[in-house]
Amino acid sequence: MSIELKQAGAALACEAARMAGLGWMRGTSGNLSVTLRQDPLRLAVTASGLDKGELTAADVVVVDATGKAVPDQPNPAQRPSAEAGLHARIASVAGAGAVVHVHMLSAVVAAQRWPGGVVLRDLEMLKGLGRRDDDVMTVPVVPNSQDMGVLGDAFEAGFDAATPVVIVARHGVYVWGRDLVQARHRTECLDWLFQFTLATNGFQEVVA
Ligand SMILES: [Zn+2]
Repeated sequence: MSIELKQAGAALACEAARMAGLGWMRGTSGNLSVTLRQDPLRLAVTASGLDKGELTAADVVVVDATGKAVPDQPNPAQRPSAEAGLHARIASVAGAGAVVHVHMLSAVVAAQRWPGGVVLRDLEMLKGLGRRDDDVMTVPVVPNSQDMGVLGDAFEAGFDAATPVVIVARHGVYVWGRDLVQARHRTECLDWLFQFTLATNGFQEVVA
């Protein structure tokens, strides 16, 4: 295994354990990726079917622009999730260095409440997404599909470089950034924003 891939695998395992601890990777769900190179596109993605709280640096698969495992894997027993196809599409379209896909409950509930897009506004925490505190950010929601081409097309149709997140209805959320740490920070801020927006929906604003 190359040093580059070992480092990527170690970073993926570390971040997956943190996110599993936050309750975002229940069962064996969710997957994380880092972009190894853009041309041709190569991603290191967490291996499928494993407990994301217990990954090692070797539990990683290298995939191409379609999300398929490339030949000569360091660990041929490991398989990528079908969802790696959407990671690759996001990395390509957004130029992301890392993509987080978790089944975070707050995002899925918010998309259920607002299937046309989740509006986040006037909150200091928006700065965590590179926005101003008085910005209005609409998080796109796309219908779930088992076909990564269909999901990828829906993502690309609603892509906005200033909104590094898309929710897949009744499924989970994809968040991206320049690296895994930024992608996790953004996911943490989004969880807070979704929870706040759900919890305060219907509040009457009291003007003193
Ligand atoms: Zn998923």
